[in-house]
Amino acid sequence: MNNLFQAERIDGKGFAANLVERLADEVRTLKTRTGLTPGLAVVLIGEDPASGVYVGAKHRQTQVVGMHSFVHKLPAETGQAELMALLARLNADPDVNGILVQLPLPAHLDTHAVINAIDPDKDVDGFHILNAGRLATGQDALVPCTPLGCLMMLKDRLGDLAGLNAVVVGKSNIVGKPMTQLLMGENCTVTVAHSKTRNVAELCRTADILVVAVGRPELVKGDWIKPGAVVIDVGINRVMRDGMSRIVGDVAYSEAGHAAAITPVPGGVGPMTIACLLANTLTAFRRQHNLQTNPAIAG
Ligand code: NAP
Repeated sequence: MNNLFQAERIDGKGFAANLVERLADEVRTLKTRTGLTPGLAVVLIGEDPASGVYVGAKHRQTQVVGMHSFVHKLPAETGQAELMALLARLNADPDVNGILVQLPLPAHLDTHAVINAIDPDKDVDGFHILNAGRLATGQDALVPCTPLGCLMMLKDRLGDLAGLNAVVVGKSNIVGKPMTQLLMGENCTVTVAHSKTRNVAELCRTADILVVAVGRPELVKGDWIKPGAVVIDVGINRVMRDGMSRIVGDVAYSEAGHAAAITPVPGGVGPMTIACLLANTLTAFRRQHNLQTNPAIAG
C-alpha cells in the first residue's frame, strides 16, 4: 500500500460489535417487558465444513445477545419430506421467532421449496419469495442480512443516499438483487453489472457508491474506482500469496486509496452479516408480538 492511500477504512468489525451491544440491550429490555426470550433456529444439513463454521458462529453470537439458539443438525441424506416436517414444527413453535436454513443444501434437496416452506414472518434470512416481493415493492420485509449490513454502513458513512449513483456488481438473489432494491429504496440511481455486462470498468467509474459481490479475487482495479467513491467489498476469496493462504475481497484494496472509504476484507462486510441476522430475529420477534420496531436496529 502506498503513502497516498487516503481512503477511510470502514470498520465493519467495530460497527458489528456496536450493533451486537445494542441488540443485547434490546433483548434485556424486551425480556423485562414481555417475560419472553427471542429465539433463533438454525438448520444445518450435511457436513460441509464452511457451513459448520458459519452455524457455530451464529449459535455463539445468538447466545451472546441473550437470545435462545436452537441448532438442528441433520445428516446429508435427509429427505425433502423430513426437512419440510421439521420446518413445519419450527413454524408452529412460539419459542422460535426466526428460522434459517444454512445454504447451500445437498443437491437432492429443492432449495426454493425449502426456503418457501419457512413462515415468511420467521424468515430471518429474507430469502422467502414473499419477503423478496415485499422488498421489491417497498413493503415491510425481512431483508437479506448481507445487503442490510452494507446499507447500514453506507448510511452511517454518507447519511442521505438520495440522488447518488450506485453501481452494484453481481446480481445474485442473496446479495446483488436485494442490494439493488435497498439502494433504489434510498432513491439512488442504480446500475447493476453482471458476468455478461460489456463495460463493467466504465460503469464502475460512474459510481458514487460501488458495491461488489462477485466472488472473483480483486476483480475491481484501482482505476475502476471514481475518486471520492464509497466502496463496499462483499467478496470473500481464498487465495495463495507468497506460499500462504489469504482471504481477499473482490476489490484490489491497495489500489483504492483515492476512494473516500472502503470496507476491508476481512473485517468489513462479513462481521455485519451475523449482526444483521440477530437484528432481523429481533425485528421478527417484535412484529410477532405487535411491539414497536426500533428503527436503530431494524431491517
Ligand atoms: P454468486 O451467486 O456466485 O453471484 C456472483 C455474481 O457475480 C453473479 O451475478 C455473476 O453474474 C457476477 N459475476 C461473475 N463474474 C463477473 C464478472 N467478471 N464481472 C461482473 N460480474 C460478474 O455470488 P454471491 O453469493 O452473490 O457472493 C458473491 C461474493 O460475496 C462471494 O465471494 C461470496 O463469498 C461473498 N459473500 C460474502 C458474504 C459476507 O457475509 N461477507 C455474504 C454472501 C456472499 P451472472 O449473474 O451473470 O452469473
